[in-house]
Amino acid sequence: MREGRALSPRSPTRGMTCINARDQSRASARKAGENAHRVSPQGISGMSKDLRAAAVQVAAHAYARYSNFHVGAALRSVSGKVYTGCNVENAAYPLALCAERGAISAAVAAEGAAFRLQAIAVVAFDANGVAQAVTPCGACRQVMVEFGADAEVGFDSADGWRTLPAADLLPHRFILREAAPN
Ligand SMILES: [Zn+2]
Repeated sequence: MREGRALSPRSPTRGMTCINARDQSRASARKAGENAHRVSPQGISGMSKDLRAAAVQVAAHAYARYSNFHVGAALRSVSGKVYTGCNVENAAYPLALCAERGAISAAVAAEGAAFRLQAIAVVAFDANGVAQAVTPCGACRQVMVEFGADAEVGFDSADGWRTLPAADLLPHRFILREAAPN
């Protein structure tokens, strides 16, 4: 998750917000508003627009005072319910929390150990509200496959919005064979 380049002069924690901005200029071309609230999902395929719209909404709540990078995630559980999360940074940079895991934590808190992930959308905006290419960081990918290896993961790539199965984002993932099935 550290392969992205600096997205802002004030982005000391860019690696903590699941940012992978391989093509910032291309993403900038998709500017859709002056802040996250105004950005509307367009050109979405393979994932319901409402899930991405929920991610856009919650990104506006991000606590991103250090990176100015606002990340939102919205997931749908197999039960059909939607949960959201945003990045939460901290003066002690390594303590920053990712939006994706925030959403998953909310889902587990609500549904318990039976929670299973069906789909999750991830979006990010810079300080000017410009949509950025973003993919989940390695830690979030590992957490996603824990709850749904086949879950659909949607994100803005350099080639636009795309979706992939969670397992495809993390080949050779860690599996604890001894764990009891859930
Ligand atoms: Zn992450």
